[in-house]
Amino acid sequence: MSTSALTRRTHPRPDLLGSQGPHQTFSGTQTFLRRKATQDISGADVVVSGLPFDLATTFRPGARFGPQAIRAASVQLAELLPHAYPFNFNPFDELAVADWGDVEFVSGYPDQAVAVIEAHARALLAQDVTMLTFGGDHFVTYPLLKAHAEKYGKLSLVHFDAHVDTWPDDGKRLDHGSMFLRALNEGLIDPGTSVQIGIRSFSEDDYGFNVLSAPWIQEQGIRAAILEIRRVVGRRKAYLTFDIDCLDPAFAPGTGTPVAGGLSSAEALTILRALGQLELVGMDVVEVAPAYDHADITAIAAATIAHDLLCLLAQRKQFEARQNRT
Ligand code: MN
Ligand code: MN
Repeated sequence: MSTSALTRRTHPRPDLLGSQGPHQTFSGTQTFLRRKATQDISGADVVVSGLPFDLATTFRPGARFGPQAIRAASVQLAELLPHAYPFNFNPFDELAVADWGDVEFVSGYPDQAVAVIEAHARALLAQDVTMLTFGGDHFVTYPLLKAHAEKYGKLSLVHFDAHVDTWPDDGKRLDHGSMFLRALNEGLIDPGTSVQIGIRSFSEDDYGFNVLSAPWIQEQGIRAAILEIRRVVGRRKAYLTFDIDCLDPAFAPGTGTPVAGGLSSAEALTILRALGQLELVGMDVVEVAPAYDHADITAIAAATIAHDLLCLLAQRKQFEARQNRT
């Protein structure tokens, strides 16, 4: 079983570090946070890639346009570096990050999606990088989990969503609402050390997952949610998946299955920013469907979430470096 790629200390790829510019905020190649667009990922710490697949949606399609929308919205954040707010450091001093681009799906063969995504993830993980992946609809997390569990063993899932995504599953269907029951049935994730955050839709059964519903968070508060996530997941290897519909439609209208009564972007970011102690071995942001967005509200939220996830990785790398010195 592998340890985290982040324990590596040296940087064989200085071309993937630091600010990449200068650029005007409103022009230039719109890679994620202006990272280098390359599929040569040797020596990278983190690889960003897009999965423009939305054939497993049950309501409004369009998340195939998510990766490009997140990248475009991220550009403004890149221009604010080197001081990432509120972390107050430049994550690219610590992390060599490449933007691999988007995976290509052959049109007309949706059944190939699992194999295509799994092969993509395996190829990246074989190079010991941490993946930050943009959906696509939430089904893409299933093949990502398969590849991550193959490398790291059974994982704790840190799952932000309005929906539990554990609806009845026959092990075959392409459905963005049932793949976590499949992941559980296949032993990829451990529900007892996993947590679902922001849930506000019906479920027959919690299947042993720890559920922090949106009403519970509203009543108990952000601090209680943070402490509960830390308690449940502990120091186990965790995969973080952020379905943007965890946010209220007021903060993320551009998504396929919006549900009222969700977290604000401020609440979700406050929770995320307190999760630097978790050992995140992989992460994704999914379900951004820009055709339903207004003024890029959803894309800006998703880009900020992804930016903060990178900062959490950089923060843990700093922490581990300090521990290794003492
Ligand atoms: Mn979902
Ligand atoms: Mn959802």
